[in-house]
Amino acid sequence: MVSTFIAENPFVSAVSMTALFVAAAGTGGYVWFNDRRKTIMRQMDELLYKNTATGLYNIRWFRKNAPLLIAADARSRDEERFFVMSVNIERLDLLKEVYDEDTLLKGMRENLVNVRKKYSWISAFCVSQELAMIYALVNLPPEIMPMTAAQCFIDDISTLTIGKATVNFEYVAGIAPVEKNHDGDVKHIMHMASIARGEAAFSGRKIGLYDEKFQENLILQKKMEDLMQKALQNEEFKVWLQPKYDLITRQVIGAEALVRWDSPELGFLMPGKFIGLFERNGFAVQLDYYMLERICQLQVKRQKAGLMLLPISVNQSALHISEEGYLERMKLVLIGYELPPKAVDLELTETAFVDFNTKETRYVAKQIIHDLRGMGYATSMDDFCSGYSSITLLQNLPMETMKIDRALLLAAEKSPRAEIILRGVVSLGQALEMNVICEGIETTEQEELLLRNGCRHGQGYLFGKPMPLEEFEKFVAAKNEQQ
Ligand code: C2E
Ligand code: MG
Ligand code: MG
Repeated sequence: MVSTFIAENPFVSAVSMTALFVAAAGTGGYVWFNDRRKTIMRQMDELLYKNTATGLYNIRWFRKNAPLLIAADARSRDEERFFVMSVNIERLDLLKEVYDEDTLLKGMRENLVNVRKKYSWISAFCVSQELAMIYALVNLPPEIMPMTAAQCFIDDISTLTIGKATVNFEYVAGIAPVEKNHDGDVKHIMHMASIARGEAAFSGRKIGLYDEKFQENLILQKKMEDLMQKALQNEEFKVWLQPKYDLITRQVIGAEALVRWDSPELGFLMPGKFIGLFERNGFAVQLDYYMLERICQLQVKRQKAGLMLLPISVNQSALHISEEGYLERMKLVLIGYELPPKAVDLELTETAFVDFNTKETRYVAKQIIHDLRGMGYATSMDDFCSGYSSITLLQNLPMETMKIDRALLLAAEKSPRAEIILRGVVSLGQALEMNVICEGIETTEQEELLLRNGCRHGQGYLFGKPMPLEEFEKFVAAKNEQQ
């Protein structure tokens, strides 16, 4: 039939067959071209939106897609259940050097994929190119608090098994809420989460939350930074003194200078509000010198008035240990006031020395203490037994006084084992010919506990709270004349 038709209509047949051929070729070409286009698009997407080392989504993808995910769940957005988490892996470069990088990255990828599967509240996550940063968008049910979620997240990705070894990662996380009326700019929320993370890292915490309190605190810190120099010039920082005493004779045997900030703009501030900030921005160094000079002036005044010499201690920020010219400056201060030896005591916390774990740095620390003592300063190890390196420090740092931290006193009240430790610490200090004093005595029971464990000197609210200078003079006169 077909051959008859072709024979009878050769021209029509030829045209039809050509048309058919062209159509078939065209369709095939289109399909091929379309597939190719899709492949190229996919490859471009991979390059644009994925981390090349792990194949996980990158930050660009997150910025594009997180707003879409938030917009797609209007209910969760209105109930403010979305949060952005910013997680930083600490010392990743070091780990990359120690372990095979590919294995490490593969393991981290697996951890992240598993954690995403485990918690349905993780809507999306991404990693930075070097993998040190992770961002996650979470949609938390009401029963899960943001801090708890961040803790779960970092706990779950913090260990990795490589062969027979277990590698532990350290993370610091920040978490920021997505407000219901947010404008779709997730970059800003990522930034807030990172600020909360940075702040947590600064204060030695593992997780920080960017909530209202945090914002208020940031504003307050900014104000304090703007005002601190002027405050120093205007003498807004006040020296308060807290007596140190003999638990048996009940006489004042010395005092500790504690700073207060009486600010016209911010009110009356305790050191807990500003010392941490000043340690971070370096201002604590200036403030400490100011306090030191004030105490030297006070001692000169007391001396001229013929009053009994009471050693007064000032707190020294850890920053001084690495401060250039510290020893020269300390020497000049003391020479300037011509004070007798031991009139001024320097309280250094054991945390000032935590980095001193190599032979060289230990030597430097030892030398600093030795030189300060040589100049005529007394030295005290503050907050002793609040950290973990106390005993090593005792061995290496020749200080005269051991100030036992209130935490050990509280523990000794509750546990017989802790009391044994307290007794041991007191006798260790005495065996090293140190003065031993305990901080934070609030009750007569605590005084009795200290006495029965051999500690005769103390400081605390029970005997006397920190007070302004004039009040302190009256206090000393009253106490020391009673005898
Ligand atoms: P610190 O040197 O360990 O001072 C002892 C703290 O314990 C003081 O807190 C004191 O008021 C408080 N305290 C005293 N007795 C008791 C008690 O019986 N119970 C309780 N619960 N607490 C008691 P404050 O004055 O708030 O100072 C806190 C910290 O701020 C000080 O701890 C010190 O580390 C730092 N600081 C204070 N003044 C200065 C300063 O001039 N320079 C530097 N770098 N740090 C300072
Ligand atoms: Mg102190
Ligand atoms: Mg202390």
